[in-house]
Amino acid sequence: MSGKYWAKGEAFIAAVQRPQKRLFLLLILISIVVAGLSGYGLWMVAFPGLSNISEYLPILVGSLLALVLFIIAIGFLGIITALFGLPTPPVFLGLAWSAINLFFPLSIQIAKIFDIEKEQVERSFIEVSNHLVRKKNIKVKPEKLLILSPHCIQKESCPHKITRDTANCKQCGQCPVGSLVALAKVYGVNLAVVTGGTLARKAVKALRPGAVLAIACERDLTSGIQDVFPLPAVGILNQRPEGPCCNTVVDLDKVEKAITDFLR
Ligand code: SF4
Repeated sequence: MSGKYWAKGEAFIAAVQRPQKRLFLLLILISIVVAGLSGYGLWMVAFPGLSNISEYLPILVGSLLALVLFIIAIGFLGIITALFGLPTPPVFLGLAWSAINLFFPLSIQIAKIFDIEKEQVERSFIEVSNHLVRKKNIKVKPEKLLILSPHCIQKESCPHKITRDTANCKQCGQCPVGSLVALAKVYGVNLAVVTGGTLARKAVKALRPGAVLAIACERDLTSGIQDVFPLPAVGILNQRPEGPCCNTVVDLDKVEKAITDFLR
């Protein structure tokens, strides 16, 4: 086997062995089967009523349902090929991205049945979503990139109003905000520190970015990625050494890598 194929094989094994992504893939697959069976059940129940209206109506409705399922199946195939590093046409990637956002709520409900923690599913969703966004190789101008950071990343005792304007940060080095401000300046990208989802949406609406780099916990990242969909958003999980929502931190190397990935 040539070195190239070895590399492909190793990438495939790595993708299969990644429990984070695998969990969401499995849940998506179950969701698609559940949605398919429900659609079929509905069609069977509606069949007599539809045929009373017109003899062609059941076939028409059935064909439409089959078409929707077919498109969803292509989306799922797109997720698989993209995750395993196989060549994926952009149209497949777009469908894959739509499929994961569409089926996320159903996946959460299915995970509940199997007693799987919601946070675990959210982490898996973020990994899959990030992978698909990166695979799309989206490039934007610096002024079209928005970094969204949660307010809990600011040192709790800091008196400066950085949510109003990040330029108010004195970059004293006591929390990651100073480094984020410096990174935003170096790369010429936008940075907003927000206190919640409403303000995050407001910042996105005001700036109309081409891409978003969001830093947050599992719950906020998941809802944020879905809120801004179809805007490409890469999520980076924050770390909570002092518990949730207090003096949180973020891996700045990951932030810088995500910035450079997005820039032309
Ligand atoms: S780096 Fe900025 S936000 Fe953080 S404590 Fe210092 S002045 Fe406050």
